[in-house]
Amino acid sequence: MQRVFRQLKWRIIAAHMVVVIVGVVIVLGMASVVMNAIVPQFLQNQLANLSTRVDAAVLAQATDELLETFRNSVFTAVTVAAIGAILAGIMTGLLLAQEILRPLRQIALSSRRIARGQYRERISVPTSDELAEVATNFNQMAESLAQVEQQRVALIGNVSHELRTPLTGLKGYLEGLMDGVFPQNEETYALMHYEVHRMHRLVDDLQSLSRVEAGQLSFKFEQFDLIPIVERVVSQLQPQAGADCLQIHVEPPDKPLMVFADPDRVAQVVMNLIGNGIRYTDEDGRISVLVTAVANQARVQIKDTGIGISESALPYIFERFYRVDPSRTRQSGGSGIGLTISRHLVWGMGGEITAVSAGAGKGSTFAFTLPLENRS
Ligand code: ADP
Repeated sequence: MQRVFRQLKWRIIAAHMVVVIVGVVIVLGMASVVMNAIVPQFLQNQLANLSTRVDAAVLAQATDELLETFRNSVFTAVTVAAIGAILAGIMTGLLLAQEILRPLRQIALSSRRIARGQYRERISVPTSDELAEVATNFNQMAESLAQVEQQRVALIGNVSHELRTPLTGLKGYLEGLMDGVFPQNEETYALMHYEVHRMHRLVDDLQSLSRVEAGQLSFKFEQFDLIPIVERVVSQLQPQAGADCLQIHVEPPDKPLMVFADPDRVAQVVMNLIGNGIRYTDEDGRISVLVTAVANQARVQIKDTGIGISESALPYIFERFYRVDPSRTRQSGGSGIGLTISRHLVWGMGGEITAVSAGAGKGSTFAFTLPLENRS
């Protein structure tokens, strides 16, 4: 019995029955007040006027019979009305329960299917507003889960794909060494070392990526002058770029630009952006770094005259593993993770990072902002 009353259907019917019972009790109460107090009083008054002309005993009997008939008809009417109300209550209760329970059952069934990995599962949206909202939210949640699952599968595919390239190279060198195709000299070992280095870098990048995406990176915020940090990265990368190719400008010059951020993370972002500039710009091109203060933010802009980015590729370059030209970047060791990490680092320090390009072959400009010195 207790189990039955835990079901919504029976609870709704029970609620309807309570309404019926309260209605019947009120009608009966009112009828009994009418019959026991108002009607006899009324008849007594009428009898008092008539008793001079009609025999009192006959009138008393007629009054009793009248009251009895009235009582019976009231009880018959109430009983018939009660039965009708009970039947109507059960029917409307069942219909209402059906209306509420159908989507709920569907949600329960679909969520079980989703839990089993059937992410395409969706439920139909009912007509009533509140249930429609629940169903729409459920479908949106299923959609997000499907996307997360898709990303997870893509991630596994990307990681294995990225690891396969250096592993295949390494395997080739090892087999070549065993078969005597490759000589056991410094050059061969250097090539093998390069493949191991690529794998190592990829694993490091993946570890950083998983940390930034999980929001687990800790930042050591402090106030510092941004200019020496950028200058240090520029001088570190200068040998790869050539003295004329990579230049830094600061506006206004000879003035510190105090920011509130993590200096190591800022250096990491600058390193990634200038590194990309060097990688995607020919030797006779130019990469200029501009450091400025804009409103209440510091801005670092890295502009190159390199291969540029087409309009269709531009929205995706901050997505993990995205590479405009996979063959070119794989050769140079790029795995398409650098910009994703940079974006999370800049976001984590309260800034924004953007990329613009006039199109393929027309150079690119990457810029990021950082909050200026915390004066509070
Ligand atoms: P990768 O390690 O492949 O360079 P990133 O995340 O740093 O990965 O960059 C993602 C992609 O964005 C690159 O593969 C490249 O196609 C494009 N890209 C990044 N920087 C530049 C740039 N300065 N010029 C042209 N394309 C760029």
